[in-house]
Amino acid sequence: MAKCEKCKVESENLYTCPYCGKQFCFRHITPTIDKFTYGHKCEGYIKQTRAMEREKPLSKIPRVPSSEPSKEELSSEIINLFKYTVIVIIGIVFLLILLRVLRLI
Ligand SMILES: [Zn+2]
Ligand SMILES: [Zn+2]
Repeated sequence: MAKCEKCKVESENLYTCPYCGKQFCFRHITPTIDKFTYGHKCEGYIKQTRAMEREKPLSKIPRVPSSEPSKEELSSEIINLFKYTVIVIIGIVFLLILLRVLRLI
């Protein structure tokens, strides 16, 4: 029977960590970067996390153009809102003028 690498509990329902390949029980299968958090301190996971952190500045670059169209969409929404507001203001002004004209008559 296999044992959990961390708590040494014998169980048939052990999970293999995809990062380090060791077997753990359900309480210790979560790979973590330090031994104090829930799960097990996983060297493979730490390596992958560090590699991802190194890639982060590179991965941020393609995100910038993708965020630009959303800004354009937002600005077009603001323009549409502005246009709508202008139409409403013109409508109110027109209504006030009409009311004044009617009073004068
Ligand atoms: Zn365990
Ligand atoms: Zn692991």
